[in-house]
Amino acid sequence: MAQEEWQQSLKQSVTSVKQLADDFDFDQRQLEAVAARYPMRISPYYLGLIEQVGDPIWKQCVPDVRELDPSGMTDPLAEEDFSPTPAVIHRYPDRVIFLVSGSCASYCRFCTRKRKVGCTDMSLSFRELRAGIDYIAANAQIHDVIFSGGDPLLLPDSVLQDLLARIYAIPHVEIIRIGTRVPVTLPERITERLCAMLKKFPPLYINTHFNHPRELTSQATEACARLADAGIVLGNQTVLLRDVNDQPEIISELFRGLLKMRVRPYYLHHMDLTRGTGHFRTSVKTGLQIMYSLRGPVSGLASPHYVIDLPNGKGKVPLIPQYVKRKGNDLMIYAADGSVVEYSDIVDG
Ligand SMILES: *Cc1c(COP(=O)(O)O)cnc(C)c1O
Ligand code: SF4
Repeated sequence: MAQEEWQQSLKQSVTSVKQLADDFDFDQRQLEAVAARYPMRISPYYLGLIEQVGDPIWKQCVPDVRELDPSGMTDPLAEEDFSPTPAVIHRYPDRVIFLVSGSCASYCRFCTRKRKVGCTDMSLSFRELRAGIDYIAANAQIHDVIFSGGDPLLLPDSVLQDLLARIYAIPHVEIIRIGTRVPVTLPERITERLCAMLKKFPPLYINTHFNHPRELTSQATEACARLADAGIVLGNQTVLLRDVNDQPEIISELFRGLLKMRVRPYYLHHMDLTRGTGHFRTSVKTGLQIMYSLRGPVSGLASPHYVIDLPNGKGKVPLIPQYVKRKGNDLMIYAADGSVVEYSDIVDG
């Protein structure tokens, strides 16, 4: 079959540091070694968003020597321990992650699954996908299946449709979600044909992954509009990244912009302890200050949960600014403007 336009543009991606040197002036030393360890790919569209060396787009997609720092963990969330079969991560009783793809349109330098995403041995065989589907079919407590990877939307329409149809046919599966960064890095992939296919599997939730207001382009806006028009419920998971988006003004501009695109901010993730990503970590204090700054001045729809995914597979936990202090039976509550309001609680029993 003829290749689709998005498949051709993906082929034009930058996959080595050398290719960047034509357009940008930067210190290339050791960067090929980084790219050999953790694959590099920047789609032509995403490359076009870089304005200068070291800007927020550059930092997300161009290798950095600090990725070779050996501290941190290869699998901080212990995903491998919660994997009953290679394509499935089953950590919560009612929902699973279904790993359907091993590649992405651009490789994020801060990726939690850096240990395997983009590496050749990550692509799953048809047999492994079948084993994943059989596992989900055999476990009636699973109501929510999250297609992930890698990026599920890098699969050809026909392959994705087949997988969705098989999961959709399982009676105890109530909702399907897809986690994808394609609206951010390869918006041309969101074709009318793809949307017409996805429309057959309601209720379908797509969580995308915008991290910076500069990613909210007209192309990305149109891609999200096509998905929303197909009845898909859109959410967004942002990762809090040092020197990329760790400021209240950047985050509030991002979240307000997403709402205008019919995308609801779902999670703000604290960085995981993944090896090779330490330079992106912020303090929890920074994250809490950003959350506190949103409450009040910005639409409540733009306040996602700020979550930390605990090491060893203990799961995601929301981190909430300290709004309430107890003083005997009374509560001291911090209002959005910083003033303290005394509020008397009732006594139980
Ligand atoms: C994040 C995650 C989910 C989904 O969690 P929600 O809080 O429901 O979005 C499911 N399984 C695993 C292993 C996860 O890491
Ligand atoms: S798109 Fe997601 S899975 Fe792919 S590299 Fe980025 S964070 Fe990792």
